[in-house]
Amino acid sequence: MVCPKCGSRDIVLLPTNEYVCKKCGYKWPMPQPDYMWIETEVKKAKLFEKFIDAPVENCEELLAQLLKELDEKNAKLLAAKILMQRAERRKLTATELKKLYEDAERCLQ
Ligand SMILES: [Zn+2]
Repeated sequence: MVCPKCGSRDIVLLPTNEYVCKKCGYKWPMPQPDYMWIETEVKKAKLFEKFIDAPVENCEELLAQLLKELDEKNAKLLAAKILMQRAERRKLTATELKKLYEDAERCLQ
């Protein structure tokens, strides 16, 4: 950690989660983790568990459900992930697999 103002390494962390440079007195906040991102990841993990065995067979239907909770980009990625994961879990035939993968790919468009 270096002072952004004078470059000194003589920094203290205050109980208020702020850094203070002991040399020039400059004060700045400690970088916070991106909670929005963590929240989205947790939500995606929960949705994955919820829909992996749900009787929602096609991409459009799945996507419609996911879009209630996620933005479009995340919903598409998660829908594709769920469809692919299902394909693996079910040990399908090559033809069935192909159909599922096509569906998953369509999901991403
Ligand atoms: Zn400084």
